[in-house]
Amino acid sequence: MVRIEHLNKSFDETLVLKDVNLNVWPGEVVVVLGPSGSGKSTMLRCVNLLETPSAGHILIEDAEITGRSATDVNKLRRDVGMVFQSFNLFPHLSAKGNVMIGQTKVLKKGKAEAEAEALRQLTAVGLDDRADFKPAQLSGGQQQRVAIARAVAMHPQVLLFDEPTSALDPELVRGVLDVIRDLAEKSGMTMIVVTHEMGFAREVADRVVFMEDGVVVEQGLPGQVFDHPTNARTAEFLGSIK
Ligand code: ADP
Ligand code: MG
Repeated sequence: MVRIEHLNKSFDETLVLKDVNLNVWPGEVVVVLGPSGSGKSTMLRCVNLLETPSAGHILIEDAEITGRSATDVNKLRRDVGMVFQSFNLFPHLSAKGNVMIGQTKVLKKGKAEAEAEALRQLTAVGLDDRADFKPAQLSGGQQQRVAIARAVAMHPQVLLFDEPTSALDPELVRGVLDVIRDLAEKSGMTMIVVTHEMGFAREVADRVVFMEDGVVVEQGLPGQVFDHPTNARTAEFLGSIK
């Protein structure tokens, strides 16, 4: 579903992604771990072209999104959904409005159809009773669940999560992780999830990828990477956050 080949990204003179290679299969949930500054966000942002790769290729379902033959960015943004640490909801729109707007503006769906889908997705994240609330009237966990509903309502090929629970109060983390786990188990959606939540990674990931200093240094089944890391930096990192 996603092929990242020899991806390099530099900001000014600094190379922050160094020959990253990663394939994600349809329906696979890949959890990306690694210390702050290792390039996790930059890699995700390259996959939906919020950043332009400096070199290398990225393919979504065999269509190259990088380079001259690239597909248009609007199509790409439909195919690749993203959930941010900071929710990024429109403050003036209700929860339902936030879930509808991409459907009407980008997918050109009619209002009734978009509204029905919005209510379906808000129900799936347990917020059907909050459909008319504005973001400011919702907890951080509820706002993030709206952001997830909004991303899923676009029916992307791939959904990217960039530390979706890092901005939340500890007691709100579980509810958001449960929603993501449900989505992984029930929808079969292809996902790349950057998170420091080890319990979640162990339970939900099909594969764990460890990044360090712009390089994928280790990957494998969660049990393999967590219990028997082969790379010294992986072992040190896991030890530091346990
Ligand atoms: P992570 O998400 O793993 O914490 P990032 O991808 O955010 O890491 O950052 C990787 C490196 O790239 C860091 O050194 C960061 O300072 C740098 N970086 C990220 N975005 C920019 C940018 N827009 N301009 C300059 N440097 C950046
Ligand atoms: Mg980051």
